[in-house]
Amino acid sequence: MSRIPFPLPRSRGQGGFTLPRRRVGQPTGRQRPMFGRPGGASGGMGSAIKARLLIALAIAAFAIISYYGKPGDINQVTGESERVALTEESQEIQLGLQAAPEMVGQHGGPSRNMADQQRVHQVGLRLLNALQDYLAANGFKNPYYDAFQFTLLADSRTVNAFALPGGQVFITQALYSRLETEGQLAGVLGHEIGHVLARHGNKRMAKQGLFQGLAGAVGVLGGSDQSAQMGQMISSVLAMKYGREDELESDVWGVRLCGMAGYDPHAMIGVMQILAEASGGQSPPEFFSTHPSPPNRIERIQETIAREYPQGVPADYRP
Ligand SMILES: [Zn+2]
Repeated sequence: MSRIPFPLPRSRGQGGFTLPRRRVGQPTGRQRPMFGRPGGASGGMGSAIKARLLIALAIAAFAIISYYGKPGDINQVTGESERVALTEESQEIQLGLQAAPEMVGQHGGPSRNMADQQRVHQVGLRLLNALQDYLAANGFKNPYYDAFQFTLLADSRTVNAFALPGGQVFITQALYSRLETEGQLAGVLGHEIGHVLARHGNKRMAKQGLFQGLAGAVGVLGGSDQSAQMGQMISSVLAMKYGREDELESDVWGVRLCGMAGYDPHAMIGVMQILAEASGGQSPPEFFSTHPSPPNRIERIQETIAREYPQGVPADYRP
């Protein structure tokens, strides 16, 4: 079994599973060329480069083999083969439970409004139960069903919702109070349930090992501070790309789960508008963010609804 990397990815901004931010590029003052030293003893320079190249190749090969060499693990909800760090669902659940108190603590603890707390729990459960029926009819199962827990957090400043591996789902008071319909709450919770079912945290842990290995290889190859920083930047950009794909995939889950539970999935579009308003146009350029910009997400959500409901969404679905 591989080691679980700590600290866990922290959530910031909208949506769940934000990547830990790496610090890149503080100028060191030492400006060395990428390869070798100018004016140094020229005798051993060629062989030093060769040695670095070999070490870099070995590090890269090790990272790639450890990632791609493992057989995939079957996702019990989707039946798809996936590369994950933890193959046992019980380990994922354990990890989420361990990380939950810190998350809750960072957001002012659970809300003491029991009526709202209960409502979050009930809507989450309605989505899960609708999924149970769908999975049973298709010969799949949800191994996280019993572990799922939906918590309204007291934080009235941070507009956010997030999920930890194994089924811990959170929504802040700040986001909850901005929602206008139950369907929108279902959309938020459905998106977070999607992160859990698609095992995004677990897959990211597996990918982090790969990216860090490759970044290390670039650093060794260059043999300078700049090349080490370049390696880190390449690794961060690669990891962000996956972060954005995870968000879009979870939006698809949000649409599906809403529909299964009888909510109009167009509610997800309202959620995106609320997120856009809450960020007040302050969101970072999309390319450098793990979170796709709300307009981009709205477009994809509309495409998903059109695909899932070619005849249109049934009129009796709740807003
Ligand atoms: Zn998300």
